[in-house]
Order: sequence, then C-alpha cells, then structure tokens
Amino acid sequence: AMQRIAGSDERILVSVRVRPLNEKELARNDLSEWECINDTTIMYRSNLSSTERHDCPTRKVYEEAAKEVALSGLSGINSSIFAYGQTSSGKTYTMSGITEYAVADVFNYIEKHTEREFVLKFSALEIYNESVRDLLSVDSTPLRLLDDPEKGTVVERLTEETLRDWNHFQELISFCEAQRQIGETALNEVSSRSHQILRLTIESSAREFLGNEKMSSLAASVNFIDLAGSERASQTNSAGTRLKEGCHINRSLLTLGTVIRKLSQFDGSKGRNGHIPFRDSKLTRILQSSLAGNAKTAIICTMSPARSHVEQTRNTLLFASCSK
Ligand code: ADP
Ligand code: MG
Repeated sequence: AMQRIAGSDERILVSVRVRPLNEKELARNDLSEWECINDTTIMYRSNLSSTERHDCPTRKVYEEAAKEVALSGLSGINSSIFAYGQTSSGKTYTMSGITEYAVADVFNYIEKHTEREFVLKFSALEIYNESVRDLLSVDSTPLRLLDDPEKGTVVERLTEETLRDWNHFQELISFCEAQRQIGETALNEVSSRSHQILRLTIESSAREFLGNEKMSSLAASVNFIDLAGSERASQTNSAGTRLKEGCHINRSLLTLGTVIRKLSQFDGSKGRNGHIPFRDSKLTRILQSSLAGNAKTAIICTMSPARSHVEQTRNTLLFASCSK
C-alpha cells in the first residue's frame, strides 16, 4: 500500500510505503497492524489478517511519489529522493526500483528531445560512520569534502562516469552493489548503518538558440538516497531505550531529520526560520545544494506492517509527519 502525505509545501513530497508481511513474519504468525484508510490516514488496527494487505508495485510508487521530483532534473532543478525506514522495511527494494525507472525515463526523454544535446554523469558513494567512500572505485580510502566557491561542497576525487547508454548504467549499478557487498563482509551490518547516494547529473544545451538565454544550457543533479536504518536515529531519542555499548549514533540521519523539518517549516512570507544545520553532517553537506533553494525533495518512508515492528513503525510515521 502507498500514500502521499498532504501538505502545503510542494517542494517536499512525503509518502509512505507499507510492504507486505515477509515469510519470516508470516511463519511466526506476526500480524499486520497498519491499514491505509485514505490518502492522508494510516490507522493502527490490531488483528488485521494478512490477506487484507496487498502491496503497491514499485512502478506505482515511482509514478506517484518520485517521478515528478526525479524528472525535474531535466529542467535544471536539483532534486533528492530518499528512502527512510527501519532495516528490512524495504528501503533498498524501493530505491533501486525507483532509480531504474527514473534513469530509464531520462534516457527515453533524451531520445525524444533531439533539439537538445544531453550529457549524463553518474557517481555513487557511501557514508559510513561519517566517512565517505567511492562506490565506483575499488579504492576504499575515505574521501574528503571540499568547499568549492562555485559548486558548494564537492567530494574530492569522487569517480564520475559519463553514461553512454542503459547497459553502461546497469554495469555501474552492479559494480556499486558489489562494492557495497565487500564492505558488508568486512564489517557487519554496514548496509543498515550506511547511507548510499547515487547521483545522476543531467547537463543539456540547446542545439540552436531558442530565444531564451536561460534555457540555452541547463545542469542539475538528481540524488537517489538509500538511508541507514532509522532505528539508529530513534534509539537515541525514544525514552527508556538504553544505548547499547558501541552503538554508533548516526549523526547524518539525525541531522537530516532536523534539516528536512526546518526546510518544510519554511514560510515564504516570513523568510526562513532560523539556521539550517546543513554543515553538521556529511550527508547534509553533500546534499545541501540539492535540498536548499528551489530544489525538490521526495521522501518515501518504508514500513513493515508487522506487530513486532510497531515501535519502529511509529517512529517512521512520526518522521513522515514532521517532514510535512
Ligand atoms: P531495507 O533496505 O530497508 O533494509 P530491503 O529493501 O532489503 O530492506 O527489504 C528487505 C526484504 O524484504 C528484501 O528481501 C526485499 O526483497 C523484501 N521486500 C521489501 N519490500 C518489498 C515489497 N514491497 N514487496 C516484496 N518484497 C519486499
Ligand atoms: Mg537496505
């Protein structure tokens, strides 16, 4: 099931996707506890039978919750699409599908719009423990962030590939996945604690002057972000939960929450309220230019319907409602 959360700010689109119960949950007779009532309400209801639940295909999630935001990159507007939720709620499943649909749409668009010349660039990185790693390189040396007077924060020495075609994109995605797996075996649970950013940069220029200076050349990046499991963020603020020794507080995830909340509280008539702490984490520094200004953001909160996850799901829904 899926729904968009209504709100006044059209720059930030927040949706919730409920995945079906998985085999493990079904095997232990876990029950489905959440029901989507209508476009704006998700209700907690005990004893829903598992057959009352059905999944919303990723294609539909993409169409309704991400497509418009992703394709704004074609008109020179930066954008970010996030998957937020606890580990095993479906973030990677959702985000990898959305990334493929979006890139396919961009290739289709380019094919039809021969009046412009396009260049697509692709980069991929992972942030783990506030350390940045290039996912398109076998070298796992942490990368530094630099402040460029024109471009803002840039990741030093990050590989940027010029995309030739769809197959090339598929190859790069497979490479990233393999790189992520390598980290996984070296250190337990990396994917639940790390953020992955895939960035598609779209540059275009008109082949002939169109009488509009602004349209003659355009550039924007579209960021696809598979976030660390949100249980890392909520462990620190849910009362009564003792932090396990050595449990790393995910600074990037906490800062992202604050940044999104502040951005969504923006009131045009009063001006921006207060300082937005982009610089407090690597994730928000890297994404600053894709979140601020006229940038578009989509947040897809993924959740398990299972009773055993009710506490984490409540936290995810709280994040969703605070983001609007
Ligand atoms: P996360 O990235 O949040 O930890 P995953 O995306 O890896 O979670 O999903 C956990 C498991 O559930 C995977 O095996 C995935 O294939 C499956 N899954 C997630 N969402 C769905 C869905 N909507 N329909 C079917 N299977 C799903
Ligand atoms: Mg994942």
